[in-house]
Amino acid sequence: MEKKNIDWSNLGFGYMATDKRYVANYTDGAWDEGGLVDDPNITMNECAGVLQYAQTVFEGLKAYTTEDGRTVMFRPDLNASRLADSARRLEMPVFPEDRFIDAVYQTVKANEAYVPPCGSGATLYIRPYMFGINPVIGVKPADDYQFRIFTTPVGPYFKGGAKPITIKVSDFDRAAPHGTGNIKAGLNYAMSLHAIVTAHAEGFDENMYLDAGTRTYVEETGGANFLFVDKDGKVVIPKSDSILPSITRRSLTQVAKDLGLEVEERKVAFSEVPEFVECGLCGTAAVISPVGCVNDHGKDIVFKNGCDEMGPVIKKLYDTLTGIQMGRLEDKHDWLYEIK
Ligand SMILES: *Cc1c(COP(=O)(O)O)cnc(C)c1O
Repeated sequence: MEKKNIDWSNLGFGYMATDKRYVANYTDGAWDEGGLVDDPNITMNECAGVLQYAQTVFEGLKAYTTEDGRTVMFRPDLNASRLADSARRLEMPVFPEDRFIDAVYQTVKANEAYVPPCGSGATLYIRPYMFGINPVIGVKPADDYQFRIFTTPVGPYFKGGAKPITIKVSDFDRAAPHGTGNIKAGLNYAMSLHAIVTAHAEGFDENMYLDAGTRTYVEETGGANFLFVDKDGKVVIPKSDSILPSITRRSLTQVAKDLGLEVEERKVAFSEVPEFVECGLCGTAAVISPVGCVNDHGKDIVFKNGCDEMGPVIKKLYDTLTGIQMGRLEDKHDWLYEIK
């Protein structure tokens, strides 16, 4: 496989059109057989459901090259089931999970020349999504839908590597109790844009959102789940119905157990945060981004084992999960799906 002539090491996190994308249409109550197309543009009616009432859900995963030269994806079966959950919550038809995995395979295979080489730090980001496409003006679910997948090569999410970031406690809310915080929908991101622009303008990298109901429990950031480590080395993971179930976080939980660490998934009060010694953000883009400091309305909460560099427990989790992903460590849970 001859790779494209791209400066892999200097890629940012942006969109670059690749050769092929996958499209399937849902009309008259059924999905068509779907397939790969060349055109990156979509033509739809001015009154399409997605444009008027934001009926759209998405996923994000990566394909990359392992140290022994295989092209692999990490746990696409969980993306398939999460997209199905998201679709059900927004009254959209489910794209069958086995077809999802097949469609992702086809799309990556067709764009294999864009899968970055091992060691470049870059990956091929895969974006499956679906949306209501027929005209909808009275408020109701669309009748027709389109499922698509495109890929784009991306560099490391956080430029400058794994240096601990500083986040602020947001005065905005991300997700309402009993709302849509637990699904991967564009609507959750649209309403977080003002909060992130505000945080960046104030010099912070991210927002920590608290539960919207009581503002006393830790939820997540705009696009990553929290993981904390307490002074006894126990991994503590916030639990809430309005957190998006991150596949990276679920995988790190398993890795922590495999490493013999104690893991606790439970509600985490914001008042406990100063007692933790390490903090990280989990998501596909960065795996774990260490957090050095949380700013609570001008007052800094510093994680004492992880303020200048990634703390030891988070580093161990990071090295183990990325070791499995890169084929350096045994994949005993069969998490890697090879593209052949
Ligand atoms: C996608 C996403 C995450 C991270 O999930 P991964 O499956 O690990 O990539 C976390 N929080 C939110 C709100 C997300 O949309």
